[in-house]
Amino acid sequence: MAKTDITEKIVSLAKRRGFVFQSSEIYGGLNGCWDYGPLGVEMLNNIKQSWWKEMTYRENVEGIDAAILMHPKVWEASGHVDNFTDPMVDCKECKARFRYDILLEGLSEKAAKKMKEDLKKELNLDDDKIKSFIEDPDNSEKVLSTVNCPNCGRNGTFTKARSFNLMFKTYIGPVEDSSNIVFLRPETAQGIYVNFLNVKEAGRQKLPFGIAQIGKAFRNEINTKNFLFRTREFEQMEMQFFINPKDDGQWFEYWKEQRINWFVKHGIKKENLNIHEHEKLAHYAKAAVDIEYKFPFGWGEIEGIHNRTDFDLKRHTEYSGKKLEYFDDQTKERFIPYVIETSAGASRSFMAFLINAYDEEQVAKENSDGSKSTEVRTVLHIHPSFAPVKAAVFPLVNRDGMQDIAHNITEDLRKHFRVFYDDSGAVGRRYRRQDECGTPYCITVDSETLTNGSVTVRERDSMEQVRVHKDKLTGYLSQLIISN
Ligand code: ATP
Repeated sequence: MAKTDITEKIVSLAKRRGFVFQSSEIYGGLNGCWDYGPLGVEMLNNIKQSWWKEMTYRENVEGIDAAILMHPKVWEASGHVDNFTDPMVDCKECKARFRYDILLEGLSEKAAKKMKEDLKKELNLDDDKIKSFIEDPDNSEKVLSTVNCPNCGRNGTFTKARSFNLMFKTYIGPVEDSSNIVFLRPETAQGIYVNFLNVKEAGRQKLPFGIAQIGKAFRNEINTKNFLFRTREFEQMEMQFFINPKDDGQWFEYWKEQRINWFVKHGIKKENLNIHEHEKLAHYAKAAVDIEYKFPFGWGEIEGIHNRTDFDLKRHTEYSGKKLEYFDDQTKERFIPYVIETSAGASRSFMAFLINAYDEEQVAKENSDGSKSTEVRTVLHIHPSFAPVKAAVFPLVNRDGMQDIAHNITEDLRKHFRVFYDDSGAVGRRYRRQDECGTPYCITVDSETLTNGSVTVRERDSMEQVRVHKDKLTGYLSQLIISN
């Protein structure tokens, strides 16, 4: 299957089956925003719940849910007011706007080579120097002087790069003046740092300990392509782990391993995961790795693990005047803790899990005249604990009381899982419909059920069927869904 097709197919399946819709679709959509439909919200909640359990059902990690709006000084202290910017260039002719680095990445190999050679000749620079010259947004006008605008095709029409802050601004209270500006948070981490002392005291925690949070974040991203990968409103799952600075190497490695394992445990294929170690570090970081997933458009970060040192607590101490430090009553040391951050995108992970699960398989088919052929089945091999619907229940035929039994089973199972009842069409068609939305188990009530109470349970991936007594289904399915 061509890679570009996959994203298109998944976007279309996501809409058709109710995973993800375009935001405000009836008005033509709102760029960079998406709505989760009935199946999507279940799957997203399952992902978040799994992360929450994994990260906070531990002695040394506490959870919080901080407000999205925070004191504006938070974003000065964090560096977002000054540094959370992207270099943007505009086409003077068609007014299209591009992120400078992304525009460069998007050049064809031929165009990039030509640009480099021309500049090398003109400026008399060697390979290393020309690379840093090109990367510096201050040189954008010169660098792009021979490049065509991807929108209108005109040549050499770009402005000099300008910094564009990605934070959304709004006003708090009724008066719209500059003293009332607040920002929609661009990350959840700062809500954790400013609550460091509160949580330490309330949870009677000692170092090392962490604070976890799941919540919405907002970034006025310029290029919002690739479905859920880069959106303007998204959700993060972040855990900040506070430690004694002398233990930073050991905790960094620990969390890196824990986080990779979580993705693998939930079905992300190892060959589709990459650990990218940063060479160029952000101003606050001592070490950083990205967990990357092989999306159809290339490798993309799904989670970042960073050693943020004491940068954030120090800055908040400086800006708030409150000492965000720790006193170790055993060693009598007083210090500002270091922070190991694990920062995952819930929505980006959702997209990775969805793509990872998508498959089109050739399967055997029995025709109505008894002959055999093959057909393609579209199936989402979603990990059972993330699957939006855990089981579908079918009466084989709509007579002999099979519907009543199937309804009763559905009601029983619904006390524990999200379950779907379906009595329309051939059973084969019903299986296919469930395969396409990742339902791991399909239960069929047939004539044998009427005599001995057993039903068939068909497993999505192997398509194998076993008979289970209808009264034992809850225990049977619970064990499979949890242990899988
Ligand atoms: P990128 O370089 O892709 O913009 P980033 O390095 O700015 O990402 P972080 O600030 O480290 O990302 O954010 C942590 C996580 O939040 C990312 O790994 C990603 O999963 C998610 N994330 C960040 N920006 C977006 C976005 N615009 N849309 C969806 N998810 C996002």
